[in-house]
Amino acid sequence: MTAQKNKESREWLIPEEGQKHLKDIFKGLKGDVHLVAFTSGDQKNEFDTYIRRFAEELALLSPKIHAEFHTVKDEAATKYDVKLTPTLLVNPEQYRIRFTGAPMGEEARALIETVFLVSMGQSGLSAASKQLLEELKEPRNPRVFTSPSCPYCPGQFMNAVKCAIAKPDLVSAECVDSDEFPDLSAKYKVGSVPHTQYTDSFSGVGMMPEERFVLELVALKDAEQALSDRGMEAKPSHEHGTEAKEYDVVILGAGPAGLTAGIYAERSGLKSIVIDKSIIGGQVAVTPNVENYPGFKNVGGMNLVEVLTAHTREYSNVRENETVDEVKIGKRIEVYTAKGVYSAKALILATGAQWRSLGVPGEKQFFGNGVSYCASCDGYAFKGKKVLMIGGGNSALTDALHLKNLGVQVTVVHRRDNFRAEQALQDALNREKIPVIWDSTVEEIYGDAERIKGVKLRNLKTGEDTLHECDGVFVAIGHIANTELASDIGVHLNEDGTIKVDRGMRTNIPRVYAAGDVTGGVRQIVTAVGEGATAALSAFEDIQNPYWKKRA
Ligand code: NAP
Repeated sequence: MTAQKNKESREWLIPEEGQKHLKDIFKGLKGDVHLVAFTSGDQKNEFDTYIRRFAEELALLSPKIHAEFHTVKDEAATKYDVKLTPTLLVNPEQYRIRFTGAPMGEEARALIETVFLVSMGQSGLSAASKQLLEELKEPRNPRVFTSPSCPYCPGQFMNAVKCAIAKPDLVSAECVDSDEFPDLSAKYKVGSVPHTQYTDSFSGVGMMPEERFVLELVALKDAEQALSDRGMEAKPSHEHGTEAKEYDVVILGAGPAGLTAGIYAERSGLKSIVIDKSIIGGQVAVTPNVENYPGFKNVGGMNLVEVLTAHTREYSNVRENETVDEVKIGKRIEVYTAKGVYSAKALILATGAQWRSLGVPGEKQFFGNGVSYCASCDGYAFKGKKVLMIGGGNSALTDALHLKNLGVQVTVVHRRDNFRAEQALQDALNREKIPVIWDSTVEEIYGDAERIKGVKLRNLKTGEDTLHECDGVFVAIGHIANTELASDIGVHLNEDGTIKVDRGMRTNIPRVYAAGDVTGGVRQIVTAVGEGATAALSAFEDIQNPYWKKRA
């Protein structure tokens, strides 16, 4: 049955603002896109209803999109080998791209991007990835397990989709909602998402840079091992012969600082580009709730990122999942990535910070099998289970409240007898009656061959060690500034490893600025935004009036 192309009054699933935005971007669609949905036939199934409504609505937003519906008992299900419901196929006559489970939340982004790429008939892979994929001679059917609240998941699934478009004869791509299919997730021991099952026996956890994903898909080995087999360095090479794209300012990092710098740079008349090696939004994207960003009493981190990104995109070019290999400072500043070379007059480092690990036995071993650093991504998997949240700052308490809200039995473990977190969060923790184990550190995370079983805690006041059985450990003990690129070009750092800046966010290198968490300080969204604006305005001022020339 095909969806009716009329706009009879209906209650929309996609909010009005989203409809407008999608209609706009769908104007750029080239070829027809066929969404073929399979449902169980049970009219009351909420996931079936969602997929039906979502596909119908996308079809109503563009004449290029067509939606078709079947039940799993129809012949079409046999033809396309569909056994699980709901399932959504995209242009199944041409590609093998499927969503197993309703693409709700973050997964919906992947569906929109897939519609776009399929319509354009372009994989969007870098030249380096295409070259690697050419080596593939056997079929590959990667399954990416995701969750609706995981902002990293769409990026990893899109790596698979791009390969499925580039090599439709050999590669398929499947996005599996691990929440909707717990048995399938258990079969592949999915503990942390995105979890990519390349084959029955080879898997990987986390969102990967595109070239790394392609390498692992082709070699069926961990990327480091595959590179060492080839006698190559861990860094991918950038496209040779690519002409540098010219900008006034290149901004590295698309968190609140980088996104704001993009707005301020363009409004000052500077042509800018914002590049992130991972997802847009940085740490805010994985913050369940933000309650202290002025103007928003309580907003989901991802929702705030959406608002910020939409604003920045009105002005600047924002790119994600693009790793910078090298920065060269010459007459102009050159930034090399796997996808191209960007030449600019100024560089803003808004590279943020990454989570700190405990460094105890068992932490690495059980990462993805009980140990997690992302409550937004993995919390759902621990509903009804016992977990420990390690840390006493704002992140640990925000995440503990989020887990409790999901129905997880969470206990906070803190190394001192009072929290560093703000009072409002401490009050909320008390209200929710979340237990706290004070004065204790994690000495070891233990388990069996598959999953963690518990944690050995040491009470720092008594010196006593105790074993605590649990199903999961969430770690939120602060962050380490991402300064690798800064150090490579000789930017001076503070003692705590953050970038040293002056009041104008200038570093010691003329034309290089830094903003946001990479510079340390109180590390709030509101300060990151302010620093991003300051860095862009300083770049504007300096380009007009180079202070280093005056000094000479
Ligand atoms: P943080 O404020 O640095 O807190 C880290 C916590 O982990 C501290 O309680 C620290 O203990 C503990 N810790 C550090 N190393 C440890 C170890 N090896 N073992 C056990 N515990 C350890 O980090 P964060 O909570 O990630 O926050 C980072 C920044 O982001 C902060 O500026 C924060 O305000 C901001 N943030 C704000 C919000 C919000 O405003 N809603 C939300 C999230 C983050 P001690 O207290 O003993 O040092």
